[in-house]
Amino acid sequence: MVPPSGGSPASTPDTAAGSGVNSPVLHADVAVIGGGVIGHCIAWEARLSGRSVVVIDDEPGSGASWAAAGMLAPVSELHYQEEDLLELMLESSHLWPAFAASLARAGAPDFGYLTTPTLAVGADAADRRALMDLRAVQQANGLLVETLTVREARAKEPLLSPAISCALDIPADHQVDPRRLIASLRQVLAGHDQGSGTAVAGAREGFAVHHRATALLWEDGRVSGVKLASGGTVRAGETIVANGLQAADLGGLPDWIQLPLRPVYGDILRLGVPLHLRPLVTSTVRGLVHGVPVYIVPRQDGTVVIGATQREDALPAAGDTVAAGRAVSAGGVYQLLRDAQVLLPAVAELELLECTTRARPATPDNAPLLGRVPAPGPGHIPGLIIATGFYRHGVLLSPAAALICRGLLDGKEDPRWQALNPDRFSSQPQAAFQFTKETA
Ligand SMILES: Cc1cc2nc3c(=O)[nH]c(=O)nc-3n(C[C@H](O)[C@H](O)[C@H](O)COP(=O)(O)OP(=O)(O)OC[C@H]3O[C@@H](n4cnc5c(N)ncnc54)[C@H](O)[C@@H]3O)c2cc1C
Repeated sequence: MVPPSGGSPASTPDTAAGSGVNSPVLHADVAVIGGGVIGHCIAWEARLSGRSVVVIDDEPGSGASWAAAGMLAPVSELHYQEEDLLELMLESSHLWPAFAASLARAGAPDFGYLTTPTLAVGADAADRRALMDLRAVQQANGLLVETLTVREARAKEPLLSPAISCALDIPADHQVDPRRLIASLRQVLAGHDQGSGTAVAGAREGFAVHHRATALLWEDGRVSGVKLASGGTVRAGETIVANGLQAADLGGLPDWIQLPLRPVYGDILRLGVPLHLRPLVTSTVRGLVHGVPVYIVPRQDGTVVIGATQREDALPAAGDTVAAGRAVSAGGVYQLLRDAQVLLPAVAELELLECTTRARPATPDNAPLLGRVPAPGPGHIPGLIIATGFYRHGVLLSPAAALICRGLLDGKEDPRWQALNPDRFSSQPQAAFQFTKETA
């Protein structure tokens, strides 16, 4: 099947040592491990600070970010008992317009950032009650959610089913196209002002290292870079671990730190809207259908994204763990199409272009693991920042994650985000830990 936009992850893997043929040791101010939406946004923000940056990833853009619908939805994504996360989600939501504008100013091609609203709709009476209960929580948190009559909702979106039980207007929930966002970030990262010194010698386009990271390097009690599967190394003043679910597998992490990441798989669909049905909808439609959530996100190119299931079990696919994690559930596809049609009957007439599954990197409290890692004794481990566990909100949270990391690089920690510290599930740092080892 042909993906509707982008076609493939941001860049194909480079099996030759293309980023470093004659130079197995690269030197950068900042090494970012992981080229998803989080790693790229952090890399861009670090670049804006004048630092030289490399993004290390053998398959950039191919992880959870490849699947994401790109909803920037602090209001409709508010979940019971996740109010603590709300402050971060709202902060990032407020950062999005300036972040998008700064990327555009830097010459980034359009990445589908749209400030069109979201409509929440229910299918039956129980769905209406559940959405109204959630609205009470949203309002108690100062969020704007307005009820619409079904007639008013259908005036906005004429193809909505007349049988829906309720509709709510959520003006603050927007969207971006994550695939195009990563492609745009790679394009601006590839541009280097003359004389700025930001281009890393040996890295493709001065920033890209198409290899897998295997371990952190240590020297004199600090993290000094990254060891690559190719045998090469990247020496860096600061290393940012942003490789999503795989973060805990990196060698050289302090052995007392627990990064309790678990995969929560999501099936998601891309469909083409025939010309006579365009626009299918102009708002993002988020529904509850007999208690099961479904959303329909319209893109500018005449496609829609319908998502997403949530399951903690990978399908058994050919015994390969990566393939298993990406195997699409037939039941999931059925459920999404069935429920989307309850809200928008015309979904039955769309062209199914793509079914994708990826795993969201979840943590026990659904909040990211973001910050520096305490050292035994006072202070933090120099040269190391962790940025993972963004679960359902990585696209929304990417500008905030990038700014938080920029603050840490600049030596300014914002106390508001201390609760996200990446060692919050770990035992205390052990004084016996050997910082001077250079990991294999
Ligand atoms: C179906 C679905 C729908 C979603 N919808 C939304 C949405 O609407 N809004 C929203 O905000 N969020 C959404 N999310 C969540 C969002 O996709 C994630 O939170 C976000 O993509 C996480 O980004 P990341 O960069 O941390 O991880 P990833 O995108 O997974 O990137 C990690 C990268 O690390 C690389 N990597 C792994 N190991 C190594 C290594 N050893 N060396 C080098 N590179 C390595 C991988 O190749 C990958 O490119 C959705 C997720 C799913 C699955």
